[in-house]
Amino acid sequence: MEERPLIRPENTIAVIQKYGFDFQKKFGQNFLIDSHVLDKIMAAADIGPEDFVLEIGPGIGTMTQALAKQAGGVAAVEIDSHLVPILQETLAGYDNVTIINQDILKVDIKALAEQYNEGRPIKVVANLPYYITTPIVMGLLEGRAPVDSITVMVQKEVAVRMEAGPGTKDYGALSLAVQYYAEPYLAANVPPNCFIPRPKIGSAVIRLTLRRQPAVAVEDEKLLFRLIRASFNQRRKTLVNSLYNGGLPYTKEQLAEAIRGMDLPETVRGEALTLEQFGTLANRLKGMD
Ligand code: SAM
Repeated sequence: MEERPLIRPENTIAVIQKYGFDFQKKFGQNFLIDSHVLDKIMAAADIGPEDFVLEIGPGIGTMTQALAKQAGGVAAVEIDSHLVPILQETLAGYDNVTIINQDILKVDIKALAEQYNEGRPIKVVANLPYYITTPIVMGLLEGRAPVDSITVMVQKEVAVRMEAGPGTKDYGALSLAVQYYAEPYLAANVPPNCFIPRPKIGSAVIRLTLRRQPAVAVEDEKLLFRLIRASFNQRRKTLVNSLYNGGLPYTKEQLAEAIRGMDLPETVRGEALTLEQFGTLANRLKGMD
């Protein structure tokens, strides 16, 4: 049977009509219908026959078709059971795709890599459902599963925050958490008319290449992220005051001493600190325990 690429809007519409598919807002369903954007995702993801890909939320299988052509294998995890019979038809021409009807937040990614890729690092590619972008991405970064890279379509503002640096308004706890584990690269901006139905917001494709080691070496990772969260909870306050109000187990004098010892002005705000400086601060405070 000749394949009808779903990236062409008329083919997506035909499939939706054939199955009488109802878009579920609660699952963040916006299907991609722009071949240039698909090309950019594929270029950023850099998939070859040696790669095993986890696709999160395949929808009707638009990106899955492209991934299946380039990858050694693909596992496509879709929560909406109404899409399973559709995927079985649109992906019938590929013997290297496994459709898994599950909530991605409940999938054991390490076990999946074991089962399908002998425990070697997998590549994650997705046009993510925006309502759970952060838990999905942070789960992949923190989960210690073997993941090589994560190439995802997300809400534009989220992509900008992920790659923002110190001193910018978008720099915050998400930037630091992402950059601790990965190197971000913003690959494309994507307007709403590239999807059916059109989302209300702009989107962007970001590639996160996982580091072999976290970007900074800290004795106490939990403390590092507590410091970061406290600093940005009150981002207009000085660092010493936000940390002091942040419920950390240090006196104001200890906090001020640790900051002074880093040659930072006492009035410095958390938003001015690099990840490396947050790391140094965490280690200095740890030394005062
Ligand atoms: N990949 C398709 C495309 O690009 O056209 C669909 C992308 S759509 C933005 C997001 C997809 O994720 C939908 O198919 C939705 O049903 C699915 N989804 C939503 N929540 C999910 C979850 N928790 N686990 C797995 N899939 C989910």
